[in-house]
Amino acid sequence: MTASFWSKNFIKFHDTDVIIVGAGFAGLSTAFWLTHFQPGLRITILDRLSPGAGASGRNAGFLTKGSSAFYKSLSSKWGTQEARELFEFAESSLKETHEHILTKSSGLDFEVTRSLTLLECEDVPPGVGLDFKWVKQGELPFKLQKKYAGGYQSGPEYKINPRELLAHLEQILLKRKVRFQNNLSAYRLVSEGVLTEDCLIRGKQVVLALNGYFPQFHPAFKKIVTPRRAQMLAVQLDEPLDCPDLYYHPDERVYWRMLKGNILLIGGKRLVDTEGEMGDFEKVTPIIQDALEEFLHSNLKLKFQVVHRWSGIMGFTEEELPFVTKASAPLDAFAIGGFSGHGMGLGFRSGKEMAQLMIGELQESLFTKIKSVKIDI
Ligand SMILES: Cc1cc2nc3c(=O)[nH]c(=O)nc-3n(C[C@H](O)[C@H](O)[C@H](O)COP(=O)(O)OP(=O)(O)OC[C@H]3O[C@@H](n4cnc5c(N)ncnc54)[C@H](O)[C@@H]3O)c2cc1C
Repeated sequence: MTASFWSKNFIKFHDTDVIIVGAGFAGLSTAFWLTHFQPGLRITILDRLSPGAGASGRNAGFLTKGSSAFYKSLSSKWGTQEARELFEFAESSLKETHEHILTKSSGLDFEVTRSLTLLECEDVPPGVGLDFKWVKQGELPFKLQKKYAGGYQSGPEYKINPRELLAHLEQILLKRKVRFQNNLSAYRLVSEGVLTEDCLIRGKQVVLALNGYFPQFHPAFKKIVTPRRAQMLAVQLDEPLDCPDLYYHPDERVYWRMLKGNILLIGGKRLVDTEGEMGDFEKVTPIIQDALEEFLHSNLKLKFQVVHRWSGIMGFTEEELPFVTKASAPLDAFAIGGFSGHGMGLGFRSGKEMAQLMIGELQESLFTKIKSVKIDI
């Protein structure tokens, strides 16, 4: 949106040190670490809606390193060393999320668990130095033994309610005097700061954390980020299902978990409608939702009633790896995003690296090392 002639006179000014655009997990994690390293820093976070309104508050709540299939493909594309470094990065991201948010917030409900990548036939291990344990068929939950030959397990990982996680992180930041400006869209960077429809926020540094909305903000991101929809389905099962882990089934491109009250949450099947799932607007479609239901019926042989359907927007990069980097812009600007479906697992440590880059403690992030991205805004 732009400011009309009529509202021009009402343009407000506001001064701060750092402006973070986008109040998702990436933006809030960056603010967490900036205020951790430099407690006196003045930070304003603006969001066109509110904290957690984007993918960060709509995901499946897998706080995980990712499936063994993800690391296997990473190893074959970038090399085992890079896959191992990313695994360690994700591991430390989870550890720090646990230490600094999960255990620090009273009333935040989370569960320590593991993830299990289910396979219909035994496969070679995902890579040297990656801490995945093969779970044999007979050790799987009874209901899964008919379908699967076993799976690669990794942990500790966490089951969370992502909306709650974001709310607790927001509370931590409010206590650190971070200023939140909700319902305010940034539409341009200028040398003094960020312009919104009726406000110039003046700041020395700007961080863009816009996920799937990067290309909407500036065309420079069109070749870097592709917005893709991801849909979710929640069902109430007719019979109890004892499946305590976070499950991936890479061949069927689905992931699922149990919630309290015998509710199962499932997401994925994006590839049955690749074209239809491109774009940055949310909706649920019969083609994806039917595919998710069909998976539960025919693969897991479950009977259920549908409780809820929803979607969110992810920001994909070509390599499905994020960027945490400086941008060339009219002022000191940075960008963090492109998590491609792994933002909750990788986000907290990525926010730390973003903060370290900004204060000069780090010259490049792990992701710049694996694949550098040039951003000219
Ligand atoms: C359905 C679904 C399931 C998923 N499941 C998982 C999972 O289980 N585990 C996992 O690790 N990852 C999962 N992901 C991916 C994960 O949610 C994302 O990678 C992560 O949330 C990205 O965080 P972010 O802060 O970059 O983006 P977002 O949370 O999308 O934040 C971007 C913010 O920018 C704001 N914004 C956009 N444009 C503007 C503007 N011009 N001005 C101001 N504000 C603006 C938006 O309102 C939004 O709040 C899932 C994603 C989806 C959609």
